[in-house]
Amino acid sequence: MTRSRAGYLAEIGIPVWRLRDTEAMAESTSAPTSGESDLSAASTVALAAQPTGDTAARWEALAATVRECTLCQLHRTRTQTVFGVGRRDAQLLVIGEAPGADEDRQGEPFVGRAGQLLNAMLRAIGLARGDVYIANILKCRPPNNRDPEPREAAACTPYLTQQIELIGPRVILAVGRIAAQWLLQSDAPIGRLRGRAFEYGESGVPLIVTYHPAYLLRSPLAKAAAWTDLCMVQDLLMKSER
Ligand code: SF4
Repeated sequence: MTRSRAGYLAEIGIPVWRLRDTEAMAESTSAPTSGESDLSAASTVALAAQPTGDTAARWEALAATVRECTLCQLHRTRTQTVFGVGRRDAQLLVIGEAPGADEDRQGEPFVGRAGQLLNAMLRAIGLARGDVYIANILKCRPPNNRDPEPREAAACTPYLTQQIELIGPRVILAVGRIAAQWLLQSDAPIGRLRGRAFEYGESGVPLIVTYHPAYLLRSPLAKAAAWTDLCMVQDLLMKSER
């Protein structure tokens, strides 16, 4: 049985019917309620193609390089690298900051409670976790979950850049302050970075900023703002289909 959007929003703790009354939501929610299924249909189309040949070889070579990487000090304390997960031809690329303890243990980004909330956020706009690609700026966990150091991010960013080139996403969702500030090379607070679309890099891929799910777990009132960000993502994805 297909769950309703309201059901998914309830799951992430957003009172959907109140939000739909707000002016800020008017344009973003102008997509029909069936937009969820529209996106699902788009995702189904995307499911047809997976990288083959040279592209697949480039992915494997990149993954192998990351697995053995010792370019920064974080290789000494990691359990394993966390390369990224998802469709390698995804329309939406989600980029976070760095692996945490769960991710370091499991080798996958955005697991644990924050990962579950991210999955629910994606489902609210009609996307399964497997429809998107999820990666971090850093492929290794900083000890004690400290913020990444600029030299670590600089050392690791070329891997993410190659992932972006290989995926060719239509939209990038930067999750959390650290990811947003690094990708946009800005020191503006996240409250000033979210709520609008940036163009990322030379390709000009639309980039939307939103709050990190770990922050949303601590600050549920921010979920309403995150929902408007997700509606922008959904809107951009649907426009890119036309
Ligand atoms: Fe290499 Fe990135 Fe890990 Fe540093 S964080 S060791 S650059 S993979």
